Amino acid sequence: MPSWTRRSIEILAAEAARSADTHLIRLDLPAFPGIPLYLKDESAHPTGSLKHRLARSLFLYAICNGWLHEDQPVIEASSGSTAISEAYFARLLGLPFITAMPRRTSCDKIAQIEHFGGRSHLIDGTDVYGAAEQLARESDGFYMDQFTFAERATDWRGNNNIAESIFRQMEREFDPVPRWIVVSAGTGGTSATIGRYIRYGAARSDGTQLAVVDPENSVFMDYFNSGDASLRLDCGSRIEGIGRPRVEPSFIRGVIDRMIRVPDNASMAALRVLERLMGRRCGGSTGTNLVGALQLMCELRASGEKGPVVTLICDGGERYRKTYYNDDWLAAEGFDVANEQARLEQVIQSGRWVDA
Ligand SMILES: *Cc1c(COP(=O)(O)O)cnc(C)c1O
Repeated sequence: MPSWTRRSIEILAAEAARSADTHLIRLDLPAFPGIPLYLKDESAHPTGSLKHRLARSLFLYAICNGWLHEDQPVIEASSGSTAISEAYFARLLGLPFITAMPRRTSCDKIAQIEHFGGRSHLIDGTDVYGAAEQLARESDGFYMDQFTFAERATDWRGNNNIAESIFRQMEREFDPVPRWIVVSAGTGGTSATIGRYIRYGAARSDGTQLAVVDPENSVFMDYFNSGDASLRLDCGSRIEGIGRPRVEPSFIRGVIDRMIRVPDNASMAALRVLERLMGRRCGGSTGTNLVGALQLMCELRASGEKGPVVTLICDGGERYRKTYYNDDWLAAEGFDVANEQARLEQVIQSGRWVDA
């Protein structure tokens, strides 16, 4: 084995040993008795999002496959969060890092990539994949390709993946088995890991269902309903990190029990609601997750059922100061957050779902 390979594995193992697990935060909303909401705080990773887990797994996968070598530039197609995490790991390993990203990616994310020594290549349109392939050819680099490899680079049976961590953290709760786990999909890797784990760990996850929320301008939900993997869109999602213009190879339809479409306006308003409930700011996809979780909590309540609903804080709000938390930006994008926020607050007060 090349000494660089051996040393790199050790560096990644040491990084994992320094990392702690992320918190599972419990919220009890009075209108939902017996239906607690749990939020797994993935913003607590050293690079600020759930992509920290993915980036570590992708590097290990590439190195253990013999695909990635000393001094080789690492290239990625990203909407930002993965690029931040991969830039961090590339720097740990002493590798150059370049990412292709949509031009609309928040400038705070671009600054963080630079902070970790990475470079951003901003493109118009949705073909970040082609741009990344071209960058890899030109630089003799290695295209990490999260959208293909996310579902297989993660150890879905365990190894403290996000699903195992959730179920272990729930063990001491009065009601330990989630009725629903609600996630959003970018690569689809998180939903693949959780969905497979629910089936694999059938003894302790019996009764848990996986719901995936999808924003506007994404093909995932139509693919879930139709099975047509050739679906394409030519404009990208406005919720950074989730919703894709093509069916990503890592999106595993068969492990998902249900998909819910969430209007972008509702995702934006949900961020305000979360700020009131938790006193902190989260990223856009966390808003999308919250709307889906609330809808399912209302359904449980309406049918007289009880049980926990678990969702994720995918990243924090600091990255979106100039966009999701900026009233001028929201107005320019045509969002009407105030009415939507009132609707969601009404849902939380009454425990009854109100359609947009
Ligand atoms: C990537 C991402 C997601 C979705 O996770 P996947 O495992 O890629 O499907 C959600 N939110 C944010 C902020 C992300 O960066």
